[in-house]
Amino acid sequence: MSKKVFYFYNPDVGNFHYGPGHPMKPHRLSVIHSLVLNYNLHKKMQIYRPYRASAHDMCRFHSDEYIEFLQRVTPQNIQGYTKYLSHFNVGDDCPVFEGLFDFCSMYTGASLEGATKLNHKCCDIAINWSGGLHHAKKFEASGFCYVNDIVIAILELLKYYARVLYIDIDVHHGDGVQEAFYLTDRVMTVSFHKYGSYFFPGTGDMYEIGADSGRYYSVNVPLKEGIDDQSYFQVFKPVIQYVMEFFQPTAIVLQCGADSLDNDRLGCFSLSTKGHGECVKFVRDLNVPLLAVGGGGYTLRNVARCWTYETSLLVNEPISSELPYTEYLEYFAPDFQLHPEVLTRQENANSKQYLEAITRHVYDNLKMIEHSPSVQMQDVPGDLMPDSEDRAAAMDDNADPDVRINQLDEDRRIEPPNEFYNGDEDQDRPETEQSLP
Ligand SMILES: [Zn+2]
Repeated sequence: MSKKVFYFYNPDVGNFHYGPGHPMKPHRLSVIHSLVLNYNLHKKMQIYRPYRASAHDMCRFHSDEYIEFLQRVTPQNIQGYTKYLSHFNVGDDCPVFEGLFDFCSMYTGASLEGATKLNHKCCDIAINWSGGLHHAKKFEASGFCYVNDIVIAILELLKYYARVLYIDIDVHHGDGVQEAFYLTDRVMTVSFHKYGSYFFPGTGDMYEIGADSGRYYSVNVPLKEGIDDQSYFQVFKPVIQYVMEFFQPTAIVLQCGADSLDNDRLGCFSLSTKGHGECVKFVRDLNVPLLAVGGGGYTLRNVARCWTYETSLLVNEPISSELPYTEYLEYFAPDFQLHPEVLTRQENANSKQYLEAITRHVYDNLKMIEHSPSVQMQDVPGDLMPDSEDRAAAMDDNADPDVRINQLDEDRRIEPPNEFYNGDEDQDRPETEQSLP
C-alpha cells in the first residue's frame, strides 16, 4: 500500500559548515537531495521548502536565555560571549559557526512543519533528513546538536495525538529526547545504541526506565560494538512489537541516525544500508502516522546512500543499486553502488544470549504498564491543546496552531525538481579519529 509522503527540504541547509575537520557535515543533505531527485523519487512524494522555526517555537522546549544566546552569538562577536560558552556547552563539539541560528531554524522548522502536516492528516509520512538532533538539552547544546527539533515536533504532535512513540536507531543514545519526556506517559522513548566504555553520551543504561508517571515509558536497548544486521533485527523487531502492543502509539517519530552503519567515522556498529533500512521498513509497515528524521552519520557517502535508500522505502518505490549520475558521483567511487560492501572492522560483541536477556528485560518492564494506574488509553479529541498539567516538557505554548498553519500554507511552495545547489568540495575524510558523536 502506497502512502502519502511529504518531504521537507530547505536547499540552503546543506551550505552550513561546522568548521574545518568537524565530522558533522551539513553538506551531506545536498548530496542526499541530489540522489533523491536523480532517482526520480520526488515524483512519488511532495517536496516542500519548509517553514523556518522562530525563537518562540524553539522556546517551547529550550530556555529563553539559551535561545537568545544562539540568536546573538557569531564567530565575529564570540569574544564577548566567552563566559556563556561553557555555560551553554558551546565551543568545541558544538562550535559557533556562521549562520548557526539560521541552520537551527531550518532543520527545526522542517520537523515542526512535518508534525503539523501529520496533525492535519495531510500526509501519512513526513521526512526531514536535516532534523534528528537528539542530544540537544533544554539549557544547552550537546553532541553537535543545538536545538532539539525532535522534542519540539513531538510537543506539536501531542496537541493531536494521545500517545507518541519515539524510536532512535542512531549509534548514540537519544538522551535529549529521553530527558525531555522522562516524566510523562504520553511519550515513550525507545533507543537502540552503543553503551559502555565511555561511549558518548554515557547514558542509556537498561535501568533508565523513566520516573513518576513516566516510569516504564523510557526504553533503552544498550548494545555492544560490532552489531550486524541479523543481531540488530533480532532485538529491534521484538522490542518494537512489544512496545506497539503495550503502548499503542497513535503517532511515531523515527530518528534514523546513520552513524550506526558499518564503517562510520565515529560509530562502531556493523549495519549495512539494507539492515538499517529494514528497521525503517518495519516501522513504515506499522501503519501509524510517521515523522522520519535524520541524525548522526559521519561517513558522508554512506549517510547519503542510506537516507536515499530509506526515502525509497518510505515512498515504497524500488530503486536501482546502480547510483544515478549526480554532480557528487565521484564521492561514491570506486563501486558507485547504493549498497556498499560491509567491511566489518569490528567483531560482533553481542551474543545471542545477551540480546535475548535485554529483550526479556524490556518485555518485563513494558508488562508493568498494564498495572500502572496512570496510563490512559483513550484518544485525545482533535484540537486539544496541551493542558497546563501536561507532564511532557512543554513550555508555555500559546500559539494557535491554526494561525500558524495559515502562515505555513502561504509560505509553502513546491520545490522544482531541477533545482540544484552546488555545495562545496567538503569531503568527509577516511575514518581516522574516534571522538565524540
Ligand atoms: Zn549519533
